[in-house]
Amino acid sequence: MKTLYGMSFKECVQDYVSCLDKPPNGHGQNYSEKAGCMPSHSWLSEIYKSFGKDKTQKEIDRLFAKQEILKETYRPWVKKLGQWHLADDDGKTRCGVPMLGNNYAKYIPENERSKCAKCFK
Ligand SMILES: [Zn+2]
Repeated sequence: MKTLYGMSFKECVQDYVSCLDKPPNGHGQNYSEKAGCMPSHSWLSEIYKSFGKDKTQKEIDRLFAKQEILKETYRPWVKKLGQWHLADDDGKTRCGVPMLGNNYAKYIPENERSKCAKCFK
């Protein structure tokens, strides 16, 4: 199987999408740590080159659509420092983190939160 920086196609796209959610570096760029701190736009064109643009774009669309469904299905549980979990109606987070303390979802906007990788998987 073809890999890029030791990652399969799906892992590369997943990494690209998740690096967009992380805080940017000092130059205001999002970057991928797994791809040697490459800025996200370069990382995307590397993925295009290796796996094809159409295939990559389809996978990105699929991941974004999946995240939208998750956001609609679960309610946000946001910790004080912005860690964004997803919780069901039974008071449990998808990743198993206990829902202790206050929920900061009302106070911290989506672009300042960091998604819990397990909840948004
Ligand atoms: Zn979580």
